Amino acid sequence: MTQLSMHQRLPFDEATTPPRVSTGELPQAEEVERLVTEAYQRYRATTEGQVADYIPVLAEASPDWFGICVVGARGRSFEIGDVDTHFSIQSVSKPFVFALVCDAVGYDAARRRLGVNSTGFPFNSLMAVELNDDRTMNPLVNAGAIATTSLVPGTTAEEKFERIREGLSRFAGRELSVSEEVYASESASNMRNQGIAHLLHSYGRLYFDPDRATEAYTRQCSVEVTVHDLAVMAATLANGGVNPQTQETVIARGVCRRVLAVMATAGLYELSGDWLYEIGMPGKSGVSGGVVTVSPGKGGLATFSPPLDPAGNSVRGQLVTKFLSERLGLNLFASEPVRPQP
Ligand code: GLU
Repeated sequence: MTQLSMHQRLPFDEATTPPRVSTGELPQAEEVERLVTEAYQRYRATTEGQVADYIPVLAEASPDWFGICVVGARGRSFEIGDVDTHFSIQSVSKPFVFALVCDAVGYDAARRRLGVNSTGFPFNSLMAVELNDDRTMNPLVNAGAIATTSLVPGTTAEEKFERIREGLSRFAGRELSVSEEVYASESASNMRNQGIAHLLHSYGRLYFDPDRATEAYTRQCSVEVTVHDLAVMAATLANGGVNPQTQETVIARGVCRRVLAVMATAGLYELSGDWLYEIGMPGKSGVSGGVVTVSPGKGGLATFSPPLDPAGNSVRGQLVTKFLSERLGLNLFASEPVRPQP
């Protein structure tokens, strides 16, 4: 018997043929439209949550902005509410940039350099609880996300960012650009992220100059999107990495399902477990009020509503996603018992 160390990984075989999948389809178009409309009406009057203000420009968002969009794996979309309002993508960019990095450097190398667990500590560690806040090492919390950005191919911050902008645009199926107003506001108030980058650098866990990496990361968070863009991006992750509206292959299938695994583990900050418990799908939220949720094989759901819970997750986003997850049959863990034939 050989002893495995904590940092060793099992030598899983690569699937030789595309792995078989276990997904179904969304309900009929009229049913989806009816339920999306019902979700919108049901939660429009919700007043809970606070608009983020630690980045000054985000405080200007209206708490009333509210939009929902579902894009099916066949490319059909259903949307309601503030679907044309532009907002900065913020943390919702993280799984997509992680996907681009996995595609560029390989998902195994990416895991080794960034980590994919929710805390990076053994399951029974007290230290994990004590030090959880900024020490969680996966691509969806700031430390891991800045390290991910630092791994994007390119020799300058501009080259790295252009690669990110272009990759996010392929996910969305249209050319995305930066909100210079958000970038300026966030650059002037991101000392904490600068600190994280320097700390990572001191531990040899950053792969580019810390200040330049933070700059590229901040630009990445300032890319402007609509709720429709986010739903198309989510639907691309639901469709084996192929954008269902443009039919472009954005990332490899093997990368796609691993990105979803990381989103399931860590997509909703420290409430990721609660999210999975109630909603049962990979998701990612951001402080400007966006949430994406992926139903593998079926489609992507995005919501936009700026008031957040204390962990930084959109309140309406969570309510709508829970409602639709149940009514559209999206929860990955739900099953119906088979009745034996008499
Ligand atoms: N740009 C934001 C930050 O780094 C993103 C935070 C978020 O959406 O969670 O603080």
